[in-house]
Amino acid sequence: MAGHFESDEPGRWVTHDKPKDECGVFGIYGRGLDVARLTYYGLYALQHRGQESAGIAVADGDSVFLQKGMGLVPEVFNGENLDKFKGHIAIGHVRYSTTGSSLPINAQPLVFRYAGGMMGLAHNGNLTNVSELCQQLFSNGAVFQSTTDSEVIVNMIARNYQNSMEEAVMKCMIDLKGAYSLVIITENKLMAVRDPFAIRPLCIGRLGDAWVVTSESCALATIGAELVRDMEPGEIIIIDDNGLNSLQMMRPRRKAHCIFEYIYVARPDSTMDGYNINTVRRAMGRQLAREYRVDADFVIPVPDSGTAAARGYAEESGIPFEEGLMKNRYIGRTFIQPNQSMRDLAVRLKLNPIRDILAGKRVVMVDDSLVRGTTSTKLVAMLRNCGVEEVHLCLSSPPIIRSCYYGIDTSNESELIAARKQVSDIKNIIKADGLHYLSLEGLLDIFGDNRCNFCTACFSGEYPVEIPKKAGKYELES
Ligand code: SF4
Repeated sequence: MAGHFESDEPGRWVTHDKPKDECGVFGIYGRGLDVARLTYYGLYALQHRGQESAGIAVADGDSVFLQKGMGLVPEVFNGENLDKFKGHIAIGHVRYSTTGSSLPINAQPLVFRYAGGMMGLAHNGNLTNVSELCQQLFSNGAVFQSTTDSEVIVNMIARNYQNSMEEAVMKCMIDLKGAYSLVIITENKLMAVRDPFAIRPLCIGRLGDAWVVTSESCALATIGAELVRDMEPGEIIIIDDNGLNSLQMMRPRRKAHCIFEYIYVARPDSTMDGYNINTVRRAMGRQLAREYRVDADFVIPVPDSGTAAARGYAEESGIPFEEGLMKNRYIGRTFIQPNQSMRDLAVRLKLNPIRDILAGKRVVMVDDSLVRGTTSTKLVAMLRNCGVEEVHLCLSSPPIIRSCYYGIDTSNESELIAARKQVSDIKNIIKADGLHYLSLEGLLDIFGDNRCNFCTACFSGEYPVEIPKKAGKYELES
């Protein structure tokens, strides 16, 4: 299979030097509301979490209806197909593939018929014991349509069903390992499930009498809902005409929220497990400035993910903030890839320096993370070409030295530059005058007494949940 950072998809060459986002989920239970449209708007707000496919399933008390397809939310849905949905319960999903290829068959929600009726499921995260579970299911005669770990969960729920969905989900959770934030729809219920370490986000909101569950609070704000709370580790919630009920499935040994959500994945206007993302990113920038002091004329962000941290760095250091790089916001998935002779255009098409601001200046350039280092090398060269005298690259994350197995595509370890090189070597490779990564201690200090509540495995190698010996995005396809 092609590596994650090969240019195997249109437009990926532009952004392939970043960890890839994962998936976003949304669910709503609201009598008298146009739940399909509200889900559509919720998914729009979660679009940054996955751009490969989108889907919505709606239930009306008797049946579950599904529409899904490849592409962005507005490419899959229009007024006509949304109008066809009738019902008072809906779930939705936007996907970037972390297990299984980018194929229509792998788009979610997955909707199935089981002994109790119909069920739809949408999943954010990655199971770490999917191969073992799959083998068990195969040996019991299971068949699969997709190559996603989410279908394994559907199968396990269906096989554990005897009297109720709640019981089936609880039994299933005993065997699931890894990261899973789930929304589940039946003909007359909405359920949501968060894994016992609460690795991936999932929060609950209220819109009048309606209940909403979603990956990020920005989706709540978009539809006018209020954030009620984040789901607890190992919690199952069930929403039906009796209101919301909560079951605590397992008492977690510890919380392990993905710290990369705060660094890069989540939207700045979201609040996640008690922390506003923008506020955290600014604090990362301030901490960077305390750790790495340098004389410079400007602090510039690599937009957009480096912007909040760059502002924090400027506040703490007193060095003026400038928008030195302009981002082209209109490069989409369908952009035609440049041929080999035009490869140098790749970064410039996305980010272009403003020569009038930057020529003759010393700059601190703030970005969120470095994966392979290819984009940073080109950015530094671009800045030098327009006359910048000194470029100090500051990263608001520690070096990424290990792969993620919990739902973010950080790439294979062999492709991670910091897994193979010392910081001084990386500085020489990207030809910067200075390079500083935020220290892990400094990052955790931002969270004070809650510093132990995070997964930091891609920086520390300390995985909160055992990782598979052989794993990869395509492991169910071999
Ligand atoms: S390994 Fe890194 S990206 Fe994956 S869940 Fe942990 S902190 Fe997040």
